[in-house]
Amino acid sequence: MGKIAMTTPIVEMDGDEMTRILWSRIKEVLILPHVDLKTEYYDLGLPSRDKSDDSITVAAAEATRKLGVAVKCATITPNAQRMEEYGLKRMWRSPNGTIRAILDGTVFRAPIMVDCIHPGVAAWKRPITIARHAYGDIYKPAEMKIDAPGMVELVYTRADGVVERELIQEFSEPGIVLGMHNKDASIRSFARACFGYALSVGQSVWFSAKDTILKRYDGLFKDIFEDVFRREYAEKFKEAGIEYFYTLIDDAVARAIRSEGGFIWACKNYDGDVMSDMVATAFGSLAMMTSVLVSPDGKFEYEAAHGTVTRHYYRHLKGETTSTNPTATIFAWTGALRKRGELDGLQELSSFADGLEKACLETINSGTMTGDLYAIADLPSKTSASSDAFLEAIAARIRR
Ligand code: NAP
Ligand code: MG
Repeated sequence: MGKIAMTTPIVEMDGDEMTRILWSRIKEVLILPHVDLKTEYYDLGLPSRDKSDDSITVAAAEATRKLGVAVKCATITPNAQRMEEYGLKRMWRSPNGTIRAILDGTVFRAPIMVDCIHPGVAAWKRPITIARHAYGDIYKPAEMKIDAPGMVELVYTRADGVVERELIQEFSEPGIVLGMHNKDASIRSFARACFGYALSVGQSVWFSAKDTILKRYDGLFKDIFEDVFRREYAEKFKEAGIEYFYTLIDDAVARAIRSEGGFIWACKNYDGDVMSDMVATAFGSLAMMTSVLVSPDGKFEYEAAHGTVTRHYYRHLKGETTSTNPTATIFAWTGALRKRGELDGLQELSSFADGLEKACLETINSGTMTGDLYAIADLPSKTSASSDAFLEAIAARIRR
């Protein structure tokens, strides 16, 4: 049988450490035997970023703008220790930050579910995807400690000289104040990314905030979501048989716990930070969390939510065999291959992606898994496999 053909290349962003090793093994063992893989390769490994003065990261993001679908390996975000370890010219920015700034995207994180790993919430049958707004609010704050009696105001000095004031608090004793902001354009592109992604996966969108308390601040988020939905997405949602609704964050929490899952939960920046860790942990493991960056104009960059698994890499360098879980990285590849298949009308390519995911989950359910899952899987008989043995077991299942 011939290999599955591709037309448009996928932007391939290689990375660092243990995930870089898994990256080439995944291609070699699971993809290349079946797919005539076309990629535009960018090496975002730290030595290559340093050598290119990080221009390679910008080039990879621009290629994603052009080609529409990318798959990214986990990468090191340099800190002082990495400067020394790799003898870097500069402390380069986080590649994800650079790519996000160029694509102007929203990050969607969803757990991969396996039958033998039970979510902490018994009612959850399908994954809950957290869509987190990644701009502003408490992540770009102005804070002030109040030590002596006095009046604190919000002062808005417009460029045309008009001044608006609003009293925050008349202090008679020590206290604290906080100022934060957001931008219409950022909220609008967040809403578009959520609705566009919902259509691409056929799931409903919940958006939660607290507009009963922050009538104007969260009220603006609510209004912009409503406006974007009504003007641009209501018809398409109807056709797809999915819905959008807004609800208060406390109501959303209660509904999420009672739900069966299978929806997209759009969260403001801080809510998304908290809820994504809650959802990831309640579903089982960080090594089973997928992540996709979606731009408002429909470009997709797939990756695993975890990092480069440094501790395992150092053991690997000492010649030890590691049991690092490649599942989320495999799912980054299948996400990109499936999306490329959809966009290019290559049914066989999308089916291959579905089949590879299925083989991966069946391998785990049949009892062969990496150490992180071995610790939590509910199976009468199970084996903790090395990364390579796990990949080979998946390959054997695909061949069958
Ligand atoms: P990490 O790589 O996610 O690993 C943290 C720990 O989680 C590991 O030591 C391991 O625990 C467990 N783990 C994570 N993924 C696993 C997997 N696939 N299989 C098995 N266990 C897994 O986070 P980190 O150690 O904080 O960061 C390492 C590097 O990754 C840093 O340089 C950071 O900058 C980078 N990073 C990159 C991204 C990205 O590119 N998206 C995201 C986060 C971090 P045990 O050691 O207990 O087995
Ligand atoms: Mg966090």
